[in-house]
Amino acid sequence: MAELVLFWHRRDLRLGDNVGLAAARDRTPHLIGVFCLDPGILGGDAVAPARVAYMVGCLVALQQSYAKAGGQLLILQGKPQEKIPALAKALKADAVYWNRDVEPYSRQRDTEVVDALKESGLEFRTTFWDQLLHEPGEIRTGAGDPYTVYTPFWRNWVKRSKAAPLPAPQGLKALSRQQMTAAQTAGCIDLPTAEDLGFVWTNGFPVEPGEPGALERLEEFCSGNSALTTYDEQRNFPFVDGTSRLSAALNFGAVGIRTVWAAAEAAYGRSRSDETHNNIQTWQQELAWREFYQHVMYFFPELADGPYRDPLKDFPWVNNEDHFAAWCEGRTGYPIVDAAMRQLNEIGWMHNRCRMIVASFLTKDLIVNWQWGEKYFMQHLVDGDLSANNGGWQWSASSGMDPKPLRIFNPASQAQKFDAEAEYIRQWVPELRSLDTEALVTGKIAEGDRGDYPAPIVDHKLQQALFKEKYKAQKG
Ligand SMILES: Cc1cc2nc3c(=O)[nH]c(=O)nc-3n(C[C@H](O)[C@H](O)[C@H](O)COP(=O)(O)OP(=O)(O)OC[C@H]3O[C@@H](n4cnc5c(N)ncnc54)[C@H](O)[C@@H]3O)c2cc1C
Repeated sequence: MAELVLFWHRRDLRLGDNVGLAAARDRTPHLIGVFCLDPGILGGDAVAPARVAYMVGCLVALQQSYAKAGGQLLILQGKPQEKIPALAKALKADAVYWNRDVEPYSRQRDTEVVDALKESGLEFRTTFWDQLLHEPGEIRTGAGDPYTVYTPFWRNWVKRSKAAPLPAPQGLKALSRQQMTAAQTAGCIDLPTAEDLGFVWTNGFPVEPGEPGALERLEEFCSGNSALTTYDEQRNFPFVDGTSRLSAALNFGAVGIRTVWAAAEAAYGRSRSDETHNNIQTWQQELAWREFYQHVMYFFPELADGPYRDPLKDFPWVNNEDHFAAWCEGRTGYPIVDAAMRQLNEIGWMHNRCRMIVASFLTKDLIVNWQWGEKYFMQHLVDGDLSANNGGWQWSASSGMDPKPLRIFNPASQAQKFDAEAEYIRQWVPELRSLDTEALVTGKIAEGDRGDYPAPIVDHKLQQALFKEKYKAQKG
């Protein structure tokens, strides 16, 4: 009898350029995809409706891709430690394949799934690193240690040759009617909607969910005189559509990282201009930041639980709950901060420059524990990702890997530099639209012009001095 392999999709919701899936297809066309809706993730308290809706959209697209390739994507709901081995047994699968992940939760879960498969005498293959161009351990310092600083990591990372994209599997075989009955008995269900799972999201996505949407956006971003060729200049202006908006697609694996890299390299090759090359390289550096944060999460999983650096451990945060609520709602009285938080609340995505501004504001101006902000981001971001989010927050709080200790952003200077015409502020804080630009970027709004808009809840100058004092005392 022909072999049957189950391929367990997790953060690789696509057929093309998928390392583990390609290996499974090399073994057999009787390759059945499966996705498990895990209550350990969906039942947590840091889940964003936008992210669940995006994920379900990717699963709809993946089911269509499987059907086109002649195959099938099955859906399970429950603990993967129980559901995956039970399905493999019911289908008499010869093996289960999946791609590895860096997150502590996933690694623990995967170990338990492996144990359960072993117990049932089932074969598994789980050595594939799909979501990274270079796997953890491949990039090390001269002394053989994992890097804890980005710049030397980048230098080492960029000079290594990168794998080419892999073709999507073709000519797959679906289950027989008898096998389908067995799969249903083992718990396979129809794909629920995000609403069925308890998450309502109607405000759209930065990129169409699924592989076709991600590939289309990648092509658009990397072709001709696209935003990629001016990325270095334009990426800092939140009002400009100057970045790829591919983060959610990368986090759910709607597009393969080798495909993304190849598209950037092709754009580099097409241009003879040093300026364009610099712009493209700046974007590639962002892709390396993504890998850096995943590598450090793999080697230092304790990052997920709190600050990496001493002065920020047991820090005497003020943690004023009213201030935190004002930050969440975009009602701090600092227009650039409020615009950014409202963008997040409205569309589930925030421009990177603004993520840095609001993170600095929460930690250094409001002196609120950065982990509150980290969690709020995970509750709202369509692209919420433990490694990148934790890395961004630790960077902003000065508690992470980066050796530079204190980074304090002045909201007014940031707005003057990056939203000089207050276009972004006017878009997201509509009640201030009619005020003059100077008032909006400096935040110095006359009492009589405020209407319902709040006065600044704290004084930036005083608060940063207070933060520095606390930091100095901590350092001893
Ligand atoms: C406090 C804070 C929290 C963040 N939380 C997340 C998060 O939860 N998920 C997330 O994907 N990114 C996060 N970032 C990084 C960054 O803001 C987003 O990746 C970026 O804004 C996504 O937009 P884009 O796809 O248009 O990025 P582009 O500018 O087009 O960059 C291309 C890709 O590179 C990666 N990337 C870019 N910047 C970074 C970075 N600083 N760190 C890691 N990867 C990066 C992303 O995968 C991104 O899609 C955070 C940054 C900060 C400062």
